[in-house]
Amino acid sequence: MAGMSRRRRPTAPAPSPSPSPAAPEACPCGLPARYAECCGRLHRGEAQAATAELLMRSRFSAFAVHDEAYLLRSWAPETRPAEVDFDPELRWERLEVLGATEGGAFHTEGTVEFRAYYRVGREAGVLRENSHFRREAGAWVYVDGVVD
Ligand SMILES: [Zn+2]
Repeated sequence: MAGMSRRRRPTAPAPSPSPSPAAPEACPCGLPARYAECCGRLHRGEAQAATAELLMRSRFSAFAVHDEAYLLRSWAPETRPAEVDFDPELRWERLEVLGATEGGAFHTEGTVEFRAYYRVGREAGVLRENSHFRREAGAWVYVDGVVD
């Protein structure tokens, strides 16, 4: 989900941080759970994603709540950006996981295919991506993705 943020122009002065959306009641990742007990636990560092799919869901939620620190620490070092620049106009609304390969407790790699629905002002859009994950020192990290 690298494409989910706009790159900041290197010459631009550092903008003030965009206001973070309020912590949602229902988890943005689509699982029937409250944010605080679902991806919120991963974002706070109280739990780790057991599967590549759960990591993917937690990263979608992190984009939705603007948790830059979580996004960066769940990103493979070789593809990790220096920072995540959230577009204040863009709201991630819904995630639909279409399928996954491997990415389980006994795997070291996995892929997750998903559709991520967003809204920019009155315009709605959808991103479809097949993301590649790897287990790094026990923890799943996002490596890269192929956008349809
Ligand atoms: Zn969640």
